[in-house]
This record gives sequence, C-alpha cells and structure tokens, in this order.
Amino acid sequence: MSDTPEANPLKTITVLGCGATYGVPLAGGVWGLCDPANPKNERTRPSVLVTQNEQCLLIDIGPDFRLQTSRANVIPDTILITHGHWDHIAGIGELPYYMEEVLKGDLNVYTDETCMAFIRGMFPYLFFGEKIDGSTSIVGFGEHNQYKIFWHPIRAYEAFEANGMKILPFSQHHGGSDSLGIRIADFVYSPDVKSFPIQSWNCLADIDTWILDCDYWEPSESHGDPETVLKLVYQFKPRQVFLTHMDEKMDYLVLKSWFVDRGYGHVTPAYDGQMIELRRA
Ligand SMILES: [Zn+2]
Ligand SMILES: [Zn+2]
Repeated sequence: MSDTPEANPLKTITVLGCGATYGVPLAGGVWGLCDPANPKNERTRPSVLVTQNEQCLLIDIGPDFRLQTSRANVIPDTILITHGHWDHIAGIGELPYYMEEVLKGDLNVYTDETCMAFIRGMFPYLFFGEKIDGSTSIVGFGEHNQYKIFWHPIRAYEAFEANGMKILPFSQHHGGSDSLGIRIADFVYSPDVKSFPIQSWNCLADIDTWILDCDYWEPSESHGDPETVLKLVYQFKPRQVFLTHMDEKMDYLVLKSWFVDRGYGHVTPAYDGQMIELRRA
C-alpha cells in the first residue's frame, strides 16, 4: 500500500443498509424481481456510517441496527436520525442493552422535534426518569443510571458539530411529512425523499458524493424513482451518486444498466457493506 495522501481518505462512508422499508428479500424470503444469486441484492434497512479521524457517526437506527453494527464491527456512540419512520428508528429498542453491555458509555442522539415525538410514542418506557437540561433531554440506563442518552434537538438549516464533523441538516419532502437530508462537507445523504423545497437547493450545490433515494421503478408520493433521480442529477450535477432505499423490484444489475444506457454511468445502486472514500473533510 502506498503512503501517499490519496491512500488516506479523510472520510469514509459505509453503506450499512440500502434496502427499502421491508428489506430485500422480504420477510419469508421473497426476492421480487431481484436476482437472489447476486449478493448485492440482499439489502437491510437504510443506514450509513460516517467515519472521520477515528470517530464515527451513525445515520439512522432501523430494525437491522444489531446486524449492521455487528457486520461492520463498529460501536457507534453518536446517532443522527433523519425522520421518525419505523425503518429508521426501530433499532432504538436495542439501546438499553447495547449501552450497558457493549458501548459501556454515554450516547448522543440528534434529531428534530417531530422525530422525537415519534420516538417517545414508540418507546415511552425509554424515557422514565428523564431529566431536561436546556433543550437536551437526558435518560439514564444501567444499575445506577450511569450510562446516559443525550437527546439533542436539531432543526433544518441549523448546522451543528458532532464527533468533530460539521453537519448541516436540511428539509426534504417525503410524502405527507418531511425528512432531514444531511450534508457533511461535500457528502450528502438523502434517503426518503420525493422532492426538495427551494430552501434546500443551496445544500445540494457542489456535491461530490450523493446517496439518494430510488425506492421504486414507478413514481410515488413519498420516494424517489429512476426518472426523478435523473432530473435531480441533471439539476444539481453531483460528481457521483449511489442509490438507496431500493425495494425488491430494483435488481442491482438491471438498475445499474438503466442509468448506463442513458449516459449516467456515475449513478449506480449502492449495496450493503459498500465503503466509499472521500477526500475532503
Ligand atoms: Zn425509509
Ligand atoms: Zn420514511
């Protein structure tokens, strides 16, 4: 291995999961139109890990949190959540045991007030003994409440810093509700988006690497599709795009060819376990 700066990426994105809400295969082993012989078609629920300077940030904590962190051999202490849908928050149920037996330390969670309301509704038992300090709520776990979750409210267009990374959340239209897109330097993560409000267009300029929703072949109310992706790529001109949140009809090779055939070879489906190296902090 060379020791040149190119050999040392400033930041690495690990695609922990790039499947749609119900994964591929679906429960019961249903592969839909995906070729079960291609391992890139096996998709857990959407989540990525951003690693920089030996610190990491988990984006979204869906029902495959246990499997994804085990496969990647990572123990994140900071989690950012894009919105409160089940496929992005169900792994929160794992946190008490994870914190007591694995992390053995405090955990910071960043999300907006709307998502916090979903989490409180789904996991009310995780908020017993909650303390409030400013806008942050603190919940303790362990025999003596020694391990704490710090719930930090964030808002679209208000940048914040976590684990040495400058993070800019922005609004994305996601059907009946909005999700948060995440910008960190020139990397952008956009799961669960149908379209972007004009206020977010600034956040989509000069993207190097964009992970973008492409759930279905057909247009839908709340998610991306190949034609919509083409329009967004034409508008914002990112250097490279990896597709995520793909359902069981989105075969890896068929989808990849669809973009190549239209002259968009820099748009490709992501796959679980994929690592993307970035050169800018
Ligand atoms: Zn989703
Ligand atoms: Zn969603």
